[in-house]
Amino acid sequence: MEKAYTPMMMQYLKLKESHQDAILMFRLGDFYEMFFNDAHVASKALDIVLTGRDAGTKERIPMCGVPHHSVESYIKRLIDLGYKVALAEQVEEATGKKLVNRDVVKVITPGTHMDDNTLGDTTIAAISNSEYYTVIAFLNPMTGDLYTQKTSISISHVLEACETMNVREVLLKNHEDEDLKKAFDNAGIFITYDKEDFRNEAFDYLVNHLPTPLEIKTTQRLITYLKSTQNHALLTLKPAQILTKTDVLYLDGNTIRHLELLKNERHQTTKGSLLSLINYTYTAMGHRFLKQQLLRPLKSIPLLEERFDMIEALNQEFLIKDSLVNHLKQMSDLEKITTKIVSFSVQPKDLFQLKKTLYEASFIPQILTQLNTQRSLECVSLWPNLSHVYEKLEAALLDPFPPNTNEGFIFKDDYHKDLKTYRFLLSRGDSYLTDLEESYQNKTGIKKLKIRKNSVFGYYIEVPKAQASPLEDDPHYTRKQTLANAERFITEDLKNEEKKLFEASDQMIRLEKELYQSFIKDLFQETKAINQMAHLISEIDFYQSLSQASITHQLSRPQFHKKRSVLIRDSFHPVIKAMRPDILFVENDISFDESTDILLITGPNMSGKSTYMRQFALIVIMAQMGSYVPAKEAKLPIFDQVFTRIGASDDLISGESTFMVEMLEAKRALDQATLNSLILFDEMGRGTSTYDGLSLAWAMLEYMHETIHAKTLFSTHYHELTQLSESLKQLKNIHVSAVKENETMRFLHQVKEGPSSDSFGIEVAALAGIEKSIIKRASTILKSFETEKKNKQISLFETDIVEPKKESQLEKRLKHLELDDLKPLDALMLLYEWKKDIWES
Ligand code: ADP
Ligand code: MG
Repeated sequence: MEKAYTPMMMQYLKLKESHQDAILMFRLGDFYEMFFNDAHVASKALDIVLTGRDAGTKERIPMCGVPHHSVESYIKRLIDLGYKVALAEQVEEATGKKLVNRDVVKVITPGTHMDDNTLGDTTIAAISNSEYYTVIAFLNPMTGDLYTQKTSISISHVLEACETMNVREVLLKNHEDEDLKKAFDNAGIFITYDKEDFRNEAFDYLVNHLPTPLEIKTTQRLITYLKSTQNHALLTLKPAQILTKTDVLYLDGNTIRHLELLKNERHQTTKGSLLSLINYTYTAMGHRFLKQQLLRPLKSIPLLEERFDMIEALNQEFLIKDSLVNHLKQMSDLEKITTKIVSFSVQPKDLFQLKKTLYEASFIPQILTQLNTQRSLECVSLWPNLSHVYEKLEAALLDPFPPNTNEGFIFKDDYHKDLKTYRFLLSRGDSYLTDLEESYQNKTGIKKLKIRKNSVFGYYIEVPKAQASPLEDDPHYTRKQTLANAERFITEDLKNEEKKLFEASDQMIRLEKELYQSFIKDLFQETKAINQMAHLISEIDFYQSLSQASITHQLSRPQFHKKRSVLIRDSFHPVIKAMRPDILFVENDISFDESTDILLITGPNMSGKSTYMRQFALIVIMAQMGSYVPAKEAKLPIFDQVFTRIGASDDLISGESTFMVEMLEAKRALDQATLNSLILFDEMGRGTSTYDGLSLAWAMLEYMHETIHAKTLFSTHYHELTQLSESLKQLKNIHVSAVKENETMRFLHQVKEGPSSDSFGIEVAALAGIEKSIIKRASTILKSFETEKKNKQISLFETDIVEPKKESQLEKRLKHLELDDLKPLDALMLLYEWKKDIWES
């Protein structure tokens, strides 16, 4: 069959050819149309009618379309379903019969999509592998932040790093490992295959300082991708920062999930998360900053003290805080606005918000000066002066602003001399039409005669049907349309005036479009300073939020010391306490003296073991992000990493069994934890048979005690483990108390020294209302097991006690050696040193 598509269809097909992986929305007049398979897909996904169109061939081609003014909502729906969208616009003014030029001006992908409701804290990642490690580069397309990170080539490490950075879309090479693709797929991260390595020298300054060629190349891939999809958005990019584990308190993906820092695990909503508990920010910038700090807490005591000082000052000076809040409330997302500016998608509304925000921001330095802390004064000295931008906006923009730039009336009359002329013509035209209407009314005697306008015929005269005859008989009036109860006419006078009016209006709109473009371009050079201001505002909003949280949730200022001990008095779990006002939360101390590394926690089910452990981790994280903490008093060392193995969350998606997941999480902690880490192991070994589980837990405790020395909270239902305190000097037993009260139990939720007397499983079953006869029988069986177990236990543990191995220190040092960063000479030195150690021991 011969195909002879119309020229327009040929234009479409050409554009589609280079955007095969996207749904191409093709601008035709007031609609964006989709054709062929895109039409099939989109009509289903968007629930819109599938029609057809003549395209020059024998058969009509499938088509569907959406109106241009609501395209944003349709794009959002397609993106949410995981599609990419390419927008083809008319790139020249339509003149007569000639086919207008069209081009794809923007490709919207899950990673680059942004609308007024997104927080803008997601990133796009690009991944490259060397033989020994993986480089991941991250880009936040909204804030322009670039980061690079090196991880091991293990898929779970790569995935974890991506989860921590909230990656929505990942760039992979086509030949990338199938398992890696599958892992991203399962994690709901959108995969894009990027084609060529293309270096854009103009952006070398963003990456030149990176340490390895692979990091440079990987980051450049992201820049290239952003250029191919967003083009202008490149202007807000900031030089890439290197993410290392070493300058922050490192939290892996598991920890973020298990501790419910961002979402509650059960419902996957933000309610009940730590973030939502402490989020009292008023700006999107502040919210993003708060989240960032929560995920990457600090390790520098002086920086943290500065933050505490800010909170303390704000708590005392509540009037100052009030006025700060009043200004923050009025502010819009400056980073989002600058991104819109550089991508030319900024609307008059956004410029208004910019103006308003700059106005409100101009009060902040003075308030910070009053607050008078070290950091608040630093912020004042860093505050960029943008009053000229404010004045420019104020002088240029009409108030109220138009909904878009298509109809003019963006700028004030005296912004340009021609504007004044056009507007004069338009207003004169208006009064001419009023006069004309009146004269027609008088001439015809029809009081209901009106001059109206629509987009199809322009201006016309409308009279009620019953009164139309005088006009029908007069050749001066030409009938244009008949409606059910009205007739419409035109006259030569009316059409002449219309021509003049349309000309003036066209000229005005064209002029304003040009003025707008150059106005926006002029703003480009201000975006850097605006973003700097955005950053400072986000920081201020962060302090204000933490101050509010500290008051609302009765938090107090923690103290850091260089010792290894932990002393926390009257602590509570901030989320449970806030969410369950109906229960009285029992406050507990948490203490590790200088010679304690491991707290072994026993106690019946439901007594509060897991809560106690999480509570401690939350205190550590909150303290190191610069927040006050849920306790009367907290003296802490600085931690470097937190590891958690909590609960029996079944990782069904990745296809691993619960026990395997448990062991993988344990392995990560055992491999990576240092002396300065915090480990939470909650009921380790639960997922396998009793003796397996008990033996594993036993061996792990010994290893942690002898080799790692990290601060560890280890809860267990294996009562046998409590004997370990005799052989392991740095291990201390604690228990959460409960009392038996006639056949059932009452939880006191009080943490006390020493092991609990037994595990109370049967009592909990009784509490749950299990049939009395079963409970009785279970007690009998338990008694017989306990006699049997005592005998077995001795043989098991006498033969199995593992002598701590001497070479394990060496193994550990080897494990932590960063081979990629090691110079040959240093390697040799290390070998000498280790050999010496072995001989000497
Ligand atoms: P376990 O891990 O010992 O089984 P959990 O930590 O899961 O127990 O706690 C069980 C329940 O007890 C929690 O849902 C919580 O509501 C309550 N709880 C825990 N700790 C306390 C406490 N200190 N004060 C009051 N209620 C608590
Ligand atoms: Mg528990």
